[in-house]
Amino acid sequence: MITQELLDILVCPKCKKQVQLNGQRKVLICSDCKLSYEIKNDIPIMLIDEAIACDDENGEGKL
Ligand SMILES: [Zn+2]
Repeated sequence: MITQELLDILVCPKCKKQVQLNGQRKVLICSDCKLSYEIKNDIPIMLIDEAIACDDENGEGKL
């Protein structure tokens, strides 16, 4: 479970801005970088190398 407290301290490793939780896909999204970070076993993988680009076609990038 990703708590709000955890969300508050999580930042995008690329731009250092706060990420947002996408409840549907259970990923953390940086709307600036258009990157999504996976959550594995309740641990967010905040690595640029592991980030997945989220384009606007599937709506994931629209926040
Ligand atoms: Zn970012």
